[in-house]
Parts: sequence; C-alpha cells; structure tokens
Amino acid sequence: MTRKISNISRRAMLAGAAAMPLAGGFSAGAFAGAPMLGAKTARFNRIALGGFDVTTILAASRRIPDPQNIFGLNVTAQDFAAASAGAHIPADMTRFFFTPTVVNTGAELILFDTGVSAGGTVAALTEAGYTPDQVDVVVITHMHPDHIGGLMIDGAPTYPNARYVTGAVEFDAWDMSGNETFEAQMRPLAERTEFITDGDAVASGITAMDAFGHTPGHMTYMLESDGKQLLLGADFANHYVWSLAYPDWQVRFDQDKDMAALTRRRILDMLSADKLPMVGYHMPWPGIGFVQTRGDGFHYVPHSYQLIL
Ligand SMILES: [Zn+2]
Repeated sequence: MTRKISNISRRAMLAGAAAMPLAGGFSAGAFAGAPMLGAKTARFNRIALGGFDVTTILAASRRIPDPQNIFGLNVTAQDFAAASAGAHIPADMTRFFFTPTVVNTGAELILFDTGVSAGGTVAALTEAGYTPDQVDVVVITHMHPDHIGGLMIDGAPTYPNARYVTGAVEFDAWDMSGNETFEAQMRPLAERTEFITDGDAVASGITAMDAFGHTPGHMTYMLESDGKQLLLGADFANHYVWSLAYPDWQVRFDQDKDMAALTRRRILDMLSADKLPMVGYHMPWPGIGFVQTRGDGFHYVPHSYQLIL
C-alpha cells in the first residue's frame, strides 16, 4: 500500500514538473538567471593556535598532467595507477596548490614563503585582511622558484617593511649557483636577511628545524603558543597520497632523493607520534592536516574542526 502511494505521488510530481514550463509560459532561462561561475574557493583560511592567528593563503593553484613525471619516479606505472585508484584520485592528472602561511604572533606578522609571483600572494593576503606593508618578517623555507618568486615586484621588495630570515645552509647552496630566480628575487634582499640554523628562533614560539633533502638546506618551522603546536612543513612532503602513503617514492623536485625520503619518514614519524597538525605548502587546500601511520607508510587526515573549537 505504502509503495503504491509513493509511486503515484512520484509520477504526479514528474508530470507536474514537465508541465510547468508550458503551463506558465516561462522560458528555461527564467530558472537559471544566475551566470555559471565554475569551481572556486576562498583564498584564505585562518585558525587560532593558542595566541597565534595562523592563516594559510592560496597564492596559486594549477592542474598538472602526468603526475608520475614528478612522483613515484622509481615505481612502475601499474603501481602508481593502483595507489592512485586506491585513494580515489586519478593517475593522469593532479592539482598543485601553492600555499604560503602568515602567522600573527600578536607582536609580529610573519609570512612564510612568497608564492610563484607576488601578484597571487598579495591578492590572497589582502583577501585575508592584511596589507604587504604590515608584514614584519618574511621567512623563506627554501629557494625553489615557487617559494621565492614573490619576494620582489617590479624590482622593489614586495614587503617593504620586512626583515628576512632563511637557512644559512640553503642560502649558501644557492649563492654560487647562478640561478636566475635566486639572483632576481633573493639576491637583492641578502643584506637584509638573517641566516639561521637548526633550533634557532625566528620569533618567540617559532623554531627552525632542519629538513634537508628536498633542497640542500630546506627547513621546517615549529609553531608553539600556549602549549599548542603546529609544524609548517613547507615541501618535506608534497602530495597527500604519493608522498605520505609512499614516503620512499622518489620525487623529481627532491634534489637529494635519498636524504629527502629519510627526512620525510623522520618528520612523518614525529607528526603521527605526537598527533601534531601540519601545514604543507602543496597539500590540498587549505593545507592543514594530521598524520597517522598506515601500513608501512602514513595517511593524511585533513583538518576538520580541531583547530577552530
Ligand atoms: Zn614548492
């Protein structure tokens, strides 16, 4: 009986819907007056970490075809496809996110990395409620172009009032390289830059940690405020599946592939054991998550509401 009634009402509804445009004399356009806007997201996401405001900003995002050109260089196409299918992501296309982080300690506004170019980063920073001249410190985690590309704009510093901080080992590695982006973006600021090593503090509650391998002097930063911690991981792991579930898979952009894999395992071990949140520069937007062990590797758990309670 119940079934019969619901069949009848469903049929009646469908008939009604089909009849409507004719009966009312409306064109189909009347029901879709709003323009199609396409996929879109806000370009900032802010959490509170103790007394710090921690804001990830989406400086850029791009589709990248054939991701096995980058991840899993040392595994077969079949293994790459199986790992991808098992995580519900395609094996022939990926999306890269470029996510600087800005931390307001209450005393200073500190920007970590500057994006591929200044434009996207400044636009996202502005959307997040800050202006470039409010940035007190710019920290560079490492000197790949997608991290230093926004330091300068039209030959002038993008963040005119900032002091600059970066790893001594990293600067020295690029200093004599002749790299074009380094010369254009980092060199002009060298005299305003403080060079630090493992364990040094950028500001109270922000500590540099060696994470060498991706580049010779790549560094991560531990944030700590009121007993709460979060790791700014930069590029120690660059994909939430291909780098976390398979830390030993080789990555094209890791300059020392063996050292990068060891560093990856060491940091993932720490994050999972201590249940610490991380921000990854290339993790899926908005770039914040947790790490669990799974099998011989790790599993990425995107942040939900743990840091906005
Ligand atoms: Zn990067």
